[in-house]
Amino acid sequence: KALARVAMVTGGNKGIGLEVCRQLASDGGVTVVLTARDETRGTEAVDKLRRMGLSDVVFHQLDVTDASSVARLADFLETRFGKLDILVNNAAIGAMEYAPVVDTNEEQFVGMDGQQRIEWMNKQGQETYDTANNGVQTNFYGTRHVIQALLPILLSSPDGRIVNVSSQFGLLRFVSNEDVKKELDDVHSLTEERLDELLDKFLKDFEAGTLEAHGWPTTFAAYKMAKVAMNAYTRILARRHPSLRVNCAHPGYVKTDMTMNSGFLTTEVGGRNIVTVALQPYCGPTGAFFDEGKEAPF
Ligand code: NDP
Repeated sequence: KALARVAMVTGGNKGIGLEVCRQLASDGGVTVVLTARDETRGTEAVDKLRRMGLSDVVFHQLDVTDASSVARLADFLETRFGKLDILVNNAAIGAMEYAPVVDTNEEQFVGMDGQQRIEWMNKQGQETYDTANNGVQTNFYGTRHVIQALLPILLSSPDGRIVNVSSQFGLLRFVSNEDVKKELDDVHSLTEERLDELLDKFLKDFEAGTLEAHGWPTTFAAYKMAKVAMNAYTRILARRHPSLRVNCAHPGYVKTDMTMNSGFLTTEVGGRNIVTVALQPYCGPTGAFFDEGKEAPF
């Protein structure tokens, strides 16, 4: 029997990531490597899926910010399966500092529109240089490092796919500096080195308190810039590796810990919006942005 397609999902222990693992294993007929930075939370999530009858799910530890953890995972995939067909980069942090306990329930959001909910979320936490730097390190550099480590085995798949879980917050309209926006959109000329320089500049401006003056986003700033950078990197990768499908996908505004349950969608719907892109037909779009399952402009 030919080995089923193999998928690896980062941040698979809860929220959208867990649901992506469940759907890939149940209706995608895919062997899923569910990864989590915390061993206990990860194995508990795998046990939960196994109890649903999904036997083709295995756990491996992965902290995307830890180089040795990334290397161990790459070794594991190579040794155990000798290949990787689908990589879903889902892991991310909100890049804010929250009060110790933010007690929320769904009812409190009834009657609030999306903008009001986002404003509410913004009031619950604060952004500091440290949260901004961690956000960029985890959400962009961590993800990029995972991709770089797994590219060789993805390229050996006859139909390799990368789905970078992005956000509407990663759209270029959140960057008001027209020169920067143009550079980020010109993916024929944009290099990885230039992307790094732009993120360095963003962090320096964050520290100096000059975000607004230089046209960077000012709320959810690091979260947005990490997703903006990930989108640009996705487009660079897609051009460099035409044999792969490399795309970004916005899951919608989903009720998870990250949104303090303020979202409109269930994880089932949000997860579906990612899985659709991961399982798109052979030779589908690459270097594209999908907004709730539909291709949309950057
Ligand atoms: P959650 O906070 O529920 O889950 C985030 C997951 O990422 C957790 O499993 C978390 O692990 C993991 N994670 C965080 N840091 C690391 C790390 N260093 N290494 C490995 N794993 C890590 O968030 P969501 O499910 O809401 O978000 C999933 C993705 O969807 C993210 O990329 C997010 O940006 C994106 N997104 C979500 C939206 C929403 O409305 N919810 C909207 C748009 C985009 P742990 O449990 O250990 O903290």
